[in-house]
Amino acid sequence: MGGYNRRQWLTGLVKATVGAVGAASAVAAQPRRESEMTGKDSASETKPLALVDYQPRSMLHVPETKVPRAAFPAIDFHTHLSWIEGSGGSARVFNAATRAEALPVMDRKNVRIMVDLTGGYGPLLDETIRYWQRPQPDRFIVFTEPWYGKIVEPNYPQFQADQIESARRMGAKGLKILKELGLYLREQVTSGKLVKIDDQRFDPMWEAAGAHRMPVAIHISDPEAFFLPTDRFNERYEELNAHPDWSFYGKDFPSNMELQEARNRVIARHPRTQFVALHVGDSENLAYISQCLDRYPNMHVDIAARIGELGRQPRTARKFFDKYQDRILFGTDATPHGLDTPQQIFGDELYEIYYRFLETEDEYFDYAPATIPPQGRWRIYGIGLPEAILRKVYYENAARLLGLDHPQSSK
Ligand SMILES: [Zn+2]
Repeated sequence: MGGYNRRQWLTGLVKATVGAVGAASAVAAQPRRESEMTGKDSASETKPLALVDYQPRSMLHVPETKVPRAAFPAIDFHTHLSWIEGSGGSARVFNAATRAEALPVMDRKNVRIMVDLTGGYGPLLDETIRYWQRPQPDRFIVFTEPWYGKIVEPNYPQFQADQIESARRMGAKGLKILKELGLYLREQVTSGKLVKIDDQRFDPMWEAAGAHRMPVAIHISDPEAFFLPTDRFNERYEELNAHPDWSFYGKDFPSNMELQEARNRVIARHPRTQFVALHVGDSENLAYISQCLDRYPNMHVDIAARIGELGRQPRTARKFFDKYQDRILFGTDATPHGLDTPQQIFGDELYEIYYRFLETEDEYFDYAPATIPPQGRWRIYGIGLPEAILRKVYYENAARLLGLDHPQSSK
């Protein structure tokens, strides 16, 4: 404590003995006012600290429950074990892990099946299925994706519908839509106007998915902060700063709500097709997503990469799970070696955090295995779901949508 601080402390102490306020609050309040007035001598006391260097540690003494395995076998409905790199003629399958790497983690964590959503299209999809699903169809399931590069061709609507059928024949169990639809895909693929989510050219594709009983896992929009300036008011400042390309502020981007409403029109137009709105649809506005679920019986949600949101509103989230327990799917967005998105790194730690959130009533813990919370500086609270809901969320809801014959919900 330097001379200045000691003087401040003494001043505070005098005030405290004079007034009715406690000594501690007077000490805290007084120096600030004086340093503001004098404008000097305060450097040692209010030293600027870069946000990135600020790593506060919680001093809270509360129970910590370790949940090494899911209470019931789980289907991780949302993973990226592989994806397509490059485009056009140079597109190729990238496997982010091997089966031999993935299986021990799955066994330790009681993950029965991983769904690799980004399985690709055409011959690349076949390659993905041959690597992941065909040798062990009881452990790995692969989804297909639209062949957007073909959108410039006049027969695209029928071509894309036919692709769904051929994907089904190859063994694909569902269709994945990345947020590139609505936010990246343009009329000439990378240039021109943005293609709308409810563009009618996709109608035959949505219908084909329904006809072949392939659920559509659809990621639309993103956290609301991604549509706002990356400034000091933005609660995801650090996340957007680390990933500037995730900002959809300005330019010709539609608003978050326009994207949501376009998705809703698609769901309404194709009632025979089952849609899973990924990332809870809009995890920051469960009242809105509840309305959507009430309106569209063919809509479901997964919780991938959003326990950071659900867990900071634990009472609202718990009611949401109660009410929609038949339509919420377990998923993590697990990406092997996905080091720049700590909330998604496939491994024991990731699953343990999800299980702790779902199964315990622990308080104020990290939603991602990272020193600084990567999606915003807050912590989360467990929602302690009962067994009956856990069975549905971990396994049964996904099994039903995927058409798996024998739901395993014990062991
Ligand atoms: Zn994902």
